[in-house]
Amino acid sequence: MTIEFRRDLNKSFFIDPKKGEKSVTSEVRYDPLTGHISRVFPFRRLNLHRHDWEPFVEKSRQQFCPFCPESLDKATPRFTPDFYPQGHVRVGNAVAVPNLHPYEKYASVVVMCKEHYVPMSDIYTSMIVESFKAALDYLQIAQKYDADGASYSSLNWNYMPYAGGSLIHPHLQVLAGPRPGTYDQEMYTAACNYYNQTGSNYFNQLIQAEQEAGERYLGQTGKVHWMTTYAPRHVADVTGIFPDKSSIWDLNEDDLEQIAQGIVKITHYYDRINMPSFNGALYFGTQGDKSFSLMIRMVGRFTIFPLVGSDITHMQVLHDDPWTVMLPENLAEDMKKDFAG
Ligand SMILES: [Zn+2]
Repeated sequence: MTIEFRRDLNKSFFIDPKKGEKSVTSEVRYDPLTGHISRVFPFRRLNLHRHDWEPFVEKSRQQFCPFCPESLDKATPRFTPDFYPQGHVRVGNAVAVPNLHPYEKYASVVVMCKEHYVPMSDIYTSMIVESFKAALDYLQIAQKYDADGASYSSLNWNYMPYAGGSLIHPHLQVLAGPRPGTYDQEMYTAACNYYNQTGSNYFNQLIQAEQEAGERYLGQTGKVHWMTTYAPRHVADVTGIFPDKSSIWDLNEDDLEQIAQGIVKITHYYDRINMPSFNGALYFGTQGDKSFSLMIRMVGRFTIFPLVGSDITHMQVLHDDPWTVMLPENLAEDMKKDFAG
């Protein structure tokens, strides 16, 4: 059982009003781990216009922000004393508070920094390290408090409104519950099957396969390996793998620094191509699970037309088929210089 980069090329034929009969090739790729399909339309370049967030930011400054330092203590909820007596989990400038609108049994929002607005170009490593540490502290507290009810964790970042971020002030969505998310479960099951059949960790094998293929492999920040994702879940999909780390108990501050360095390279790349928003996630394995390695995933978010469009269509919402217009191999070629040196 080896890692297979499987894809189907589909030719479609039509009469172009200007050029006559024409054929166009589209691509369906299969995620080498889960088999989930992803549609790739590689024949259009995604030239994004620079999006100016300033008017939104200015408006948000005039309205009330519960995450700004002068309001945070008064305006955000606190953890109950039996869960965490101090009420808020603080690491440097980052603060974890309960989510007012929980959608999982344990749900926290981590306010990442004191600044109300951090432009994409200015995202810095210590805001990531401190906020990820606060998130991990929260997840560990939840797991100690309720081992069965908080056994599956995730750490998520929706940067700015196009990615679903409802407040400008940088914040993370941190979740723990008794069951994993749907995609998470697919990965756990497939990684476990792979491990049982081969005796190897899929993610270690993927690093090796991508290094050998060379087309998508980007480089390392510390021990973390980065690559563009073979079967993307959205545009500019980048995967990071931290070998020999898996659960929320495995990461120290130095590890978070290595992860943060990679994320900053990706966000600076997004800024360079005018990608206005992104979603990011850390997927954790359960403690002691040798079949799963910590995975970091980043995808760009944009609008089809500025301000009024959406980059999510019937394909994702009604058919569960992700798509991208950026060929992962072209993306890697473009990003490699950000990871070099
Ligand atoms: Zn604020």
